[in-house]
Amino acid sequence: MVNERFVFDFQTAQRILFGSGSAERLGALASELGRRALWISISPRRFHQTLEQSLSDAAISFRRVIFQGEPILSRILELVEQVKEERPEVIVATGGGSVIDCAKAVAALAVNPGDPLDYLEVVGNGKPLSVNPLPVIAVPTTAGTGSEVTRNAVISLPEYKVKVSLRSPKMLPFIALIDPSLTLDLPPAVTASTGMDALTQVIEPYVSNRANAFTDIFCEGGIRKIARSLRTAFYEGHNLLAREEMAFGSLMGGLALANAGLGAVHGFAAPLGGMFEAPHGAICARLLPVVCRVNLQALQERNPNHPALGRFQTLAGWLVGHPEADVWQGVEWLEELCKDLGIPPLRDYGVQKRDFASIIEGAKRASSMKANPIELTDDELFQILEKAY
Ligand code: NAD
Repeated sequence: MVNERFVFDFQTAQRILFGSGSAERLGALASELGRRALWISISPRRFHQTLEQSLSDAAISFRRVIFQGEPILSRILELVEQVKEERPEVIVATGGGSVIDCAKAVAALAVNPGDPLDYLEVVGNGKPLSVNPLPVIAVPTTAGTGSEVTRNAVISLPEYKVKVSLRSPKMLPFIALIDPSLTLDLPPAVTASTGMDALTQVIEPYVSNRANAFTDIFCEGGIRKIARSLRTAFYEGHNLLAREEMAFGSLMGGLALANAGLGAVHGFAAPLGGMFEAPHGAICARLLPVVCRVNLQALQERNPNHPALGRFQTLAGWLVGHPEADVWQGVEWLEELCKDLGIPPLRDYGVQKRDFASIIEGAKRASSMKANPIELTDDELFQILEKAY
């Protein structure tokens, strides 16, 4: 009989470059794709000067657009109109997941005809992209989302109070250029929330019902590195080794999630992120230990021979640092980490108990929920919110 763990179809960016100082290569890389670039970026930072120089040295003409906040559809569509007019040959994104997702969505919607809503999951028809997007060079400046190697862009639709994905294998960035030194100035709170997102994105694919032998390798590498470096990156922002391990872990998360799916943490993050103004990573952080606890209870009660239980055991060993650790020690380790990083409860973002029913409805519709190792009952979903509240 075929072992399903050894069946996979792996897709990623055309090229992945990793290394402190590698952002200096931006211009040379862009020049392989065209002469005119649209550069979407976070508000001016020290590294902008290096990148500008690199683009100018390679004779790339570019216009830089500063993008703040979440990738809201209306803002993305404004940029789509500008791209249609200016016709850049390549799109460069320097920022966190918000900027990279914005760039990926702009690159796709600028060349695919028809109503953009049709292409979106959940609120639209998830219509497949027919035309290859413009090539994107994704340069992450947070260590969290792994969006530089994922095939979706998470888009906010405030009018629907939800965040949904525009997803297609065609949306993988052409080049992922990861320079961990760009994250040295990340403030502690952003280091904490984005870092916990990265940790969630190597844990959920590891216990997911779509995990395979190939994504397991990325998960193990990512979990071990994030587990030993997140606190250091939080307390000593300028520790380059910790920043390198975090950027590497985040990349591992992107590779894993794009090919093995996520789980209930991200299932809840979709409606919570649409309904409340809370950093995506902070939501994931608060939910991660709680979801692990409820998943473990559900697996032990309803399916005690489920292979995910063995995976939670291995995970606990990696987190705690000795292979004998039991699953509950793994959960306690995660709870302790959240305490140390000052992760707030959901109510601090305005979540109220009367919202629980609609959050649960949204979570059940989210694509990530389908990869959770066990289908959770409404009562269990309620318990998760109650504990994270
Ligand atoms: P973010 O992009 O929203 O950035 C968080 C904050 O950090 C912003 O204020 C930003 O300006 C600031 N910042 C970024 N880099 C900085 C730097 N080097 N120095 C100082 N400040 C800096 O946060 P994020 O967690 O990277 O991305 C979150 C978004 O990504 C959410 O919209 C989430 O839904 C999405 N997401 C996408 C994927 C995917 O695969 N496409 C996966 C997970 C999350």
